[in-house]
Amino acid sequence: MIKSLIRARLPPIPNIRFSSLASGYAGPQISTRPTRVLPSRRNISNDEMTGKKRKIKDISSNGKPAQIPAAYDFRSDTVTTPTPSMIQSILSIQTHGDDVFSEDTTTNNLESFIAELTGKPASCFVMSGTMGNQLSVRSHLLQPPHSILLDSKSHICNYEAGGAAVLSQAQIIPVTSANGKYLTLEEVQANIVDSDDIHYAPTRLICLENSLNGVIMPVEEMKKISAFAKEKGVKIHLDGARLWNVVAAGGGDLKEIVSLFDSVSLCFSKGLGAPMGSIVVGEKDFMSRVRHFRKMVGGATRQIGIATGPARTAVEEVFLGGRLARTHELAKRLEASWAKHGGTLRFPCDTNMVWLDLGSVGGDEADIPKEAKKAGLKWDWERIVVHHQISDEAIEKIEEVFAKLVENGKTRGGAKAQKKRGPSRYARRDLDED
Ligand SMILES: *Cc1c(COP(=O)(O)O)cnc(C)c1O
Repeated sequence: MIKSLIRARLPPIPNIRFSSLASGYAGPQISTRPTRVLPSRRNISNDEMTGKKRKIKDISSNGKPAQIPAAYDFRSDTVTTPTPSMIQSILSIQTHGDDVFSEDTTTNNLESFIAELTGKPASCFVMSGTMGNQLSVRSHLLQPPHSILLDSKSHICNYEAGGAAVLSQAQIIPVTSANGKYLTLEEVQANIVDSDDIHYAPTRLICLENSLNGVIMPVEEMKKISAFAKEKGVKIHLDGARLWNVVAAGGGDLKEIVSLFDSVSLCFSKGLGAPMGSIVVGEKDFMSRVRHFRKMVGGATRQIGIATGPARTAVEEVFLGGRLARTHELAKRLEASWAKHGGTLRFPCDTNMVWLDLGSVGGDEADIPKEAKKAGLKWDWERIVVHHQISDEAIEKIEEVFAKLVENGKTRGGAKAQKKRGPSRYARRDLDED
């Protein structure tokens, strides 16, 4: 059934021209280095081979005292490190099965747990958020030519190495939302390609993102766009890397939001703090295709319980355990501290991100990493991300850095002088977002 489905629905291989050949690609280089000779096994003692006498060495901190570096790191919520209970979840695994054979109980349990939590029939663990999005896009799109409509600020549009073009041969239709926050139904209707005219690439997929830059997309808007997609027979995917934050902040019920989409990807390694992984949820047939493509890109792995165990603990401890609420409260506190200096934000602070507009106080973005470093913090540009391992002390320190940035701005001549210095990093294309 699965086999015939895939055979029937996969697009034929198109006639691709490799433009890189024309632009001077010299082909694979042959190494001239001598082949490394491996030491003979006979020189290694039996105890060493079995690990019997081997002491466990510290291979992470080079003997320095253990610490949580994320406590002072505002660059992203990806910097969180596994909690003791996440590590414990690995140690408590009784049977390590092979997930390529669907025999890893820890992984199977995580997948059914998330399917139940989100109200979808099937789910599939993937290595990263990018993999979750790209496999979803690939599995929804069948026969080129086709296009994907999405927000011009979205992750799939900007930060996935052009994957939709390479893996799915899709044309991207980036739409810039007039409200600066989220796409509306009217904008989707105005930009969708709904035509069989041979000049166009018809839109077969709409991708939304929630939260996007920490901003919540209202359930009402998602409902309208979802109903429209259904009416047009267009698939709809949600990049829900931080959907946990949306739900924790009161932006909607998890099951209700997920029910509006054909597929949703959710991330374990951002706000939830697991060491790695994301998950895709959707219908059973769709998930069979996701699994097939996951295998193709090398994302099907063996005793992956060592990752899916902590992922489950992360959902229970951080999301269901209510730890995201503090991150949102602290973000609000930073918004208020910034406002006291007369500072404004680039995006509303709905969840765990605070997007300072440095220009609003005459500050210079280039000061951020320097002043943050002096204060013992890691923070590199206008975006502040609060996560569950941020310490109260770090919050006090970043508030002191705010004062310093404002002071430096005043010395330079205030907001007017800043305008002349040109656009900030956010206005440029070379920023990277995680
Ligand atoms: C981080 C992120 C991704 C990609 O996740 P990775 O695990 O870094 O590949 C996708 N979508 C959104 C909205 C993200 O923030």
